[in-house]
Amino acid sequence: MKTKSGDFVLPGDSLGVSEEFLPSEGTYDDDGEIRSLIAGTVSVDDKEKKISIIPKTSSPSLIKKGIVVVGQISDVRGQRALMKIDSIKDNSRGLVTSFSGGIHISQAEKGYVDKLTDEFRIGDLIEARVTKVIGIDNVDLTTAEPELGVLKAMCTNCRHFMKQTGKKEVTCPNCGRKEKRNISSKYEG
Ligand SMILES: [Zn+2]
Repeated sequence: MKTKSGDFVLPGDSLGVSEEFLPSEGTYDDDGEIRSLIAGTVSVDDKEKKISIIPKTSSPSLIKKGIVVVGQISDVRGQRALMKIDSIKDNSRGLVTSFSGGIHISQAEKGYVDKLTDEFRIGDLIEARVTKVIGIDNVDLTTAEPELGVLKAMCTNCRHFMKQTGKKEVTCPNCGRKEKRNISSKYEG
C-alpha cells in the first residue's frame, strides 16, 4: 500500500517504508515501516524524501524526539521506570492523546546506577526528554541531564512530598523518612 499527498490517515496507518522515506512531523518509524502518529493529511516531499502528516486539528501538541515532557512515575520495576506523561514542557496546550514513557536504567543518569529505586519512586513528578517515539502512545525517555529528573519526590511511607536534604537525598517533612532520588537541579522544595 502506498500513500500520496492529500490522503487522510488515522493514527497507526501505514505510510510507506523507511527505505523510501524519512519519517518527519506526525509520523514514527515502526521497525522499518513508517506510520502516522495522528489523524491528518499526508504530505510527501519528493525532493527531500520526507513524509509528514498535517494534523486535522489546528496546531496540536506533538510528542517528538528531543522535547521535554512532564509527568508522574507510575511504576518502577527492574531495569525500567514508567512515566505517565501529562504535558509538554513550556506548552500550555494539552496532549492530543495520552502518552506513557519508559526510562531504562542506563538512561536514568550519566553515571552507573545500581538500583532504579534510588532514582525514582511511584508518584514522583519528573521531567524527561524524549529519545525515541516507539508507537502512537509510547516513547523512550532519558533523565541523564542535570535539569532533568525528579522535580518533586513522593514519600513511599506516607505519600507526602519531600524536601531536598542532600545531592541525592530527600527527607519527608511529615514522617522523617530519608530516601534517594535522581534530583533535578530545578527540584521544587
Ligand atoms: Zn513520609
